[in-house]
Amino acid sequence: MIYKRSSALFAEAQRFIPGGVNSPVRAFKAVGGDPIFVKEAKGAYLYDEDGNKFIDYIASWGPLILGHAYEPVINAVIEKAKKGTSFGMPTEVETQLAQLAVSMVPNIDKIRFVNSGTEACMSAVRLARGFSGKDKIIKFAGCYHGHSDSFLIQAGSGAVTFGSPNSPGVTKGTAKDTLLAMYNNLESVQSLVVANKGEIAAIIIEPVAGNMGCIIPQESFIKGLRELCTQEGILLIFDEVMTGFRLARGGAQEVLGVDADIVTFGKVIGGGLPVGAFAAKDEIMSYLAPDGPVYQAGTLSGNPLAMSAGLAMLTELNNNPDIFRSLADKTEYLGKGMAKVLQEHNVPFQKNRFGSMISFHFTDEPVVDFESSVKGNNDTFKKYFHGMLNQGVYLPPSAFESYFLNDALSYEDLDNTIKALSNIVEDLK
Ligand code: PMP
Repeated sequence: MIYKRSSALFAEAQRFIPGGVNSPVRAFKAVGGDPIFVKEAKGAYLYDEDGNKFIDYIASWGPLILGHAYEPVINAVIEKAKKGTSFGMPTEVETQLAQLAVSMVPNIDKIRFVNSGTEACMSAVRLARGFSGKDKIIKFAGCYHGHSDSFLIQAGSGAVTFGSPNSPGVTKGTAKDTLLAMYNNLESVQSLVVANKGEIAAIIIEPVAGNMGCIIPQESFIKGLRELCTQEGILLIFDEVMTGFRLARGGAQEVLGVDADIVTFGKVIGGGLPVGAFAAKDEIMSYLAPDGPVYQAGTLSGNPLAMSAGLAMLTELNNNPDIFRSLADKTEYLGKGMAKVLQEHNVPFQKNRFGSMISFHFTDEPVVDFESSVKGNNDTFKKYFHGMLNQGVYLPPSAFESYFLNDALSYEDLDNTIKALSNIVEDLK
């Protein structure tokens, strides 16, 4: 494939935008080469500025669960835009989206909309601190909760891809209030709780992790976490930015059968427009301004275009709950097909799948946490990424990301993806 125009556009972008991108993983630094500049997308396919076509496995990193340019979403946005793009005043569509989200997700009474997953998690932690009167939080190595200061401590996703899981610019004062535990290791949490008795406001976790590749929570771990939080009066925050409205109508809480105290959302809830949200029972949400003392606000929060995109998206998902099964089936089919090719050619790998989240790790050892995920062979990953790209398959350009399948993918697309892997698998040895 030829990427001439993308490369020229990237050179120009680098003159005016740091690294040429507005979010680091897009730059292909981890895999080498120049990024693809997208011209347009429809359904399961991306079309770049050079006229190349790709089967897309990132779906804008999750939001486009029904495929690109999904008509009910696009039409809702166009119709709303004709009536004005932002007012900074209440609109009915905010309540409509809130009501629908609350009806789909277990264990929440109220929801507040923000503009990104970062804002959602940052605000959830402030709310947990304000509610509990305690300062410390526990997060897990390799989990990513956005780029706000408290979370850039052993963070996953782009932070680990670029070797800065602990970012300069985060003060020691902030860092000291974020305690670090190991995913799937309840003892690591228990010992932090004992050592910081009565000081921990919240534990925040990706209930199925997607930012060190896909990591599945062991049942005893996630259930044990809930019990520990209840015993110790610690709020359990599920960061469902990836899992929300993807794993099931009610997200990971529903699938895992574990209730969180505060839940955060992003991605799917905005239908591809910038939206995040956090939600909880009334008792906790009433601490939020203007009802309560914990301040949180946003000029564009609840923006009518974003709300109407989200409403169209969630309405589709709510009316067609089979979609989650269908997505998981497609993901299982793809995973099995790809695993077969790798096995037949003796390429060491691990396949982690949960619902429609999946990742491959080029290592012999099971990948269950951050430590095991960084053992994956990055040279093999680079060859895999570029090989698949040249075959017309766009995968996340980092080993520390989950793939996101969308329901526009056909079984023929999946077969073509498996075939693409067989075409390049010899190079992975
Ligand atoms: N939490 C999780 C689990 C995420 O995956 C992400 C982004 N990938 C975020 C939070 C941050 O969301 P955003 O990029 O919209 O700020």
